[in-house]
Amino acid sequence: MAGIGSSRIPYGTRARESCAMRCIGLIGGMSYHSTTDYYTGINAAVAAARGGHHSAPLLLSSLDFADVRRFQEAGDWEGAGRLLAGHAALLERAGAEAIVICTNLMHKVAPQVAERVGVPLLHIVDAVAAQARRLGLNSLGILGARWTMTEPFYGDRLAVSGVTPVRASAADVALTDAIIFDELTRGVVTGSSRAALQGVVGRLGEAGADGVLLGCTELPQILDAASSPLPVVDSTLAHVRAAAAFVLGEEPAALPG
Ligand code: GLU
Repeated sequence: MAGIGSSRIPYGTRARESCAMRCIGLIGGMSYHSTTDYYTGINAAVAAARGGHHSAPLLLSSLDFADVRRFQEAGDWEGAGRLLAGHAALLERAGAEAIVICTNLMHKVAPQVAERVGVPLLHIVDAVAAQARRLGLNSLGILGARWTMTEPFYGDRLAVSGVTPVRASAADVALTDAIIFDELTRGVVTGSSRAALQGVVGRLGEAGADGVLLGCTELPQILDAASSPLPVVDSTLAHVRAAAAFVLGEEPAALPG
């Protein structure tokens, strides 16, 4: 069997010929607990739109999250960017017609990834902003990893899209970051952490947020519309919707949900 480096897998071509769908390339494993939601969600949206046995032409490059964590903890974003950009290039060579980075935080290196490939990168913040607008939410409290909650790469792009970011206190940032990396990315979901996050969301509401952004792709495992004190924008769902729309060649707004 030919390796990825020696022969291009014609997903895109085959997809166009058979059912007019485009191949999407996912960079996942950050963590694998949420990558499964992308895989299931994109396929479910395509099946709902096309019916029958249709599913998404899709490539997945799944990283060892321990490698990614090492780069994060060392603050080596150049190195992390090189790692993700290499996987994006691999996916493009294999036939991906767009790239999806299956995490909010690693969009910190989105410019390096986008620069490395000739196909579009479907940015998670653009998908989130579109979902907030659909729901009529003008300001969003950001929940996520500490860099996502505090740094301009995320909040500034949201603001440019017309959604005002509302920032949590330093204590709430530390609390949320610890729940994500000590528990959720390890597959651990507890009632006490859910209660703690409900407290953070309540304080974001007091700070003026119309809604809360689940700005970490594992957060939907612990908080949802029913358990959140504020209306929710789920970044995983918003990104899945954008990816499925790309596969189908439709506008995200045309998809249900
Ligand atoms: N999945 C998380 C996010 O959406 C954090 C994991 C990571 O990328 O480090 O931000």
